[in-house]
Order: sequence, then structure tokens, then C-alpha cells
Amino acid sequence: MRPLGLNYNDPMSILEIECPVCGETLELTDDDRSELQVGDAIVCESCNAEMEVTRNGGDDFDLELLGILTTCPNCGEEFDVTEEMLEQGNTVSCPHCQARIELEFEDSPGPGNASA
Ligand SMILES: [Zn+2]
Ligand SMILES: [Zn+2]
Repeated sequence: MRPLGLNYNDPMSILEIECPVCGETLELTDDDRSELQVGDAIVCESCNAEMEVTRNGGDDFDLELLGILTTCPNCGEEFDVTEEMLEQGNTVSCPHCQARIELEFEDSPGPGNASA
């Protein structure tokens, strides 16, 4: 798993995380981080990407993209759209009702799907 882009450039100890899906900067304060444990998930407010905390200790903080939390417009159930599903196009199947759902993103996914 490639690490996500993290920047430790804020004197107020706010950790800036760039969302790997939409590029939005997510800010985590010390308080936010102290409440997070490895295995917890963070959701991007902009695109609903869900990221799991894989390391959280001191300056050592890392996340792994789980998927994009999506609500099915057909049955109303939530499910994660994974990177793997995105590689197959912008249309996914709801795991609950099998409806075909078209995903909408403002930005096209960036490079980094290095599946050679
Ligand atoms: Zn995002
Ligand atoms: Zn559904």
C-alpha cells in the first residue's frame, strides 16, 4: 500500500491530510488524533471517501483508503466503493439490491493505480 500524502507543516499541530480521492485537505487536530485509534475510519467531508487509520503515534500517522462511502439511491443502504471498483468505471453495483449506480466526481481520479 502506498502511503498517502501527509504534511506536517502547521505550528498548531494540525495534521493536514490530502484526500486521495478528491484532493480536499482534511485537517486533524491533536484532539482529533488522540480520539482516533488504529482501525478507526475517517470520512472525507467532501467526497465521503473512507480512510482507515493504520498508524497513530506521535508524528507517526498513516491512513489507508478503504473506499468511498456511498448511499444507494435505490435502497438507501450505505456501502463502500473501493478503488478496485472505480478502476472498472464510474458505474458500480449496489451490494444490497444490485442496482447500477453511476458515480459522480468533480475531479477525475489521479494517477497512482499502478497495477502493472
Ligand atoms: Zn475526498
Ligand atoms: Zn441498493
